Amino acid sequence: MPRYCISCDTPLQASWRGICQGWKADGFCGGQYFVEKDPPTSARPLTQVSDDVNVLPVPESPLANVLGGVADGAVILVLGPGGVGKSTAVAHLSWHVARARNGRVFWCNADQHETLVKAVFLRTKTPITNVYVEENNADPLRIWNETRKNDVIVVDSLQPWVRTANPAEFLRSIKRKHRTTFVIARVNAAGHVAGPTETEHEVDAVVYMTAEAFEVPDKCRWTPTPRRIERKQF
Ligand SMILES: [Zn+2]
Repeated sequence: MPRYCISCDTPLQASWRGICQGWKADGFCGGQYFVEKDPPTSARPLTQVSDDVNVLPVPESPLANVLGGVADGAVILVLGPGGVGKSTAVAHLSWHVARARNGRVFWCNADQHETLVKAVFLRTKTPITNVYVEENNADPLRIWNETRKNDVIVVDSLQPWVRTANPAEFLRSIKRKHRTTFVIARVNAAGHVAGPTETEHEVDAVVYMTAEAFEVPDKCRWTPTPRRIERKQF
């Protein structure tokens, strides 16, 4: 372990023969007492890490239950084949997350006409107060900047919103805003997001939806995995 001068905190060097050659405001130190210390580190002491994730209170639903609630500010990727009900599940949960935070839902639309977005909310008996629809030709950065910390963003769906950008970089730009965000994405036949594979590393939770179940196989920052909820339970 390195030794430091107790007078001026300079690390002792072997060539100094026990007399500190460090410099202080008033000149040469000359200290003769040294103490062993751990070298300085830029790593964060665990004592300074906040100890709880704020998991918001939301009503039961397969999506809410498989996630074990929704952590405030989390980015959640919802994957599944087309027609499996991703938008419907996210509409219901996003509104309740927004209500828990007294915020709004910004639905970044691309996959369907806006009247169908409204229909999705009405079908699940989800209120449409404080829900806003953004069209796909909008600038994502403009939207992120118009939202507040307690708003919820829904990206429906990832592929048309990313356009030419790298999906992972797009998700990082969302994450930097610290908004609770649901990103809906279609998967290919192998069950993966079309595009670069690092997409799934940029989010806090990944949910897979099929006709039979909601699954969180290995990624959720606030709930132990794996988890699976059969759809027929609801
Ligand atoms: Zn010294």
